Amino acid sequence: MTPPLRLAVAGVGNNISALLQGTYFYRGLAERLPETEFPGVLRPRIGGLSVSDVEFVAALDIHPDKVGRDLTAAVLTEPNNYPLLDTVVPDQGVLVEQGLVESHDDADLDRLAGRLREAGAEVLLYSLPTGLQWAADAYAEVALRAGLAFVNCTPESVARNEDVLRRFVAAGLPLIGDDLASHLGTSIVHRRLLQLLGERGITLESSYQLNLGGNEDFRNLREHGASKRESKLNALAGDAATLGKVEVIPSAGYVSHLRDNKVAYVNVEARGWANTPVTVELRLKVQDSSNAAGVIIDLIRVAAAAKRAGLSGYIEAVTLQLKSPAGGHHAHTDESIEASLAALDAPLAAAV
Ligand code: NAD
Repeated sequence: MTPPLRLAVAGVGNNISALLQGTYFYRGLAERLPETEFPGVLRPRIGGLSVSDVEFVAALDIHPDKVGRDLTAAVLTEPNNYPLLDTVVPDQGVLVEQGLVESHDDADLDRLAGRLREAGAEVLLYSLPTGLQWAADAYAEVALRAGLAFVNCTPESVARNEDVLRRFVAAGLPLIGDDLASHLGTSIVHRRLLQLLGERGITLESSYQLNLGGNEDFRNLREHGASKRESKLNALAGDAATLGKVEVIPSAGYVSHLRDNKVAYVNVEARGWANTPVTVELRLKVQDSSNAAGVIIDLIRVAAAAKRAGLSGYIEAVTLQLKSPAGGHHAHTDESIEASLAALDAPLAAAV
């Protein structure tokens, strides 16, 4: 049997609430449904790991109401506002520990690395608010010192930083990032819509996407949206001419009563036969952090499976689940992504 994935998390926000509650939701579902029929799951197994094969072994945050609490209680602590799922989540036996602050020193990095090693973690999931490049750098350094795979959920540059990537390769550790592309989010819907125009010979004039939400991520993105805007443009990955015609507003507003729901509007103005106008107006409403967790579950399983298979550096298998993958989207083909996925299952096949 494949041992569960031993996960450490930095940032105990809505993403982690959705991830933790979701793993128990599927654990309950497994009693009455084969995993191939689980709703909302892209890949039932990766490297032998199911969506509920996750053991949370360490958690870091700096919020005074979260630090010192069991992880289960911490994910339900405000300002988190992901809904309570219809499932029982027991205490994890893992207390949220004090994370890094900007004024940390080298000894703090060593101390934290030691703690994560002691907890037996395999993967460090970085899920802090957007815009904290110093924190992304520091937690990646902790992962390197502790000998863990690192997964970056945020648009901060980690896997795109060639020096950092080289250090993970040299250490024999997987590095996955940057910025997860939501399960069915604005980026993929907008991207496919723009591709469709091209496929049908319709000429794009202009396009925009506006995103609204009522969680902490949206509150933060109002003021720290620059890296997210750049990453969302990467996700659209059109040619330069197209990108010049597309505008992205990561947080057009924080609307508290939307809570953890995201509402996005996508507009396309184009020209068809004989230069006549074509307009598309699309509205997307999703549970924002479920949209993240549905992808995080694949990123962390790929990270763990890669580490167990002795693979290091960027793992191409996750490219379609990232907005800003290492090397950019153009550097990875469908064939190389498939080959990378197959390599994760190869050790299991060999063991049979
Ligand atoms: P959140 O604001 O709910 O949670 C962030 C957590 O990090 C909070 O608990 C906060 O206290 C903690 N934190 C802040 N500084 C810290 C530090 N120095 N050390 C440790 N913890 C610290 O955010 P979220 O909704 O969970 O999203 C996390 C990240 O994922 C964001 O950057 C977001 O942009 C990104 N992301 C989310 C989605 C999505 O929700 N669909 C998609 C792509 C990327």
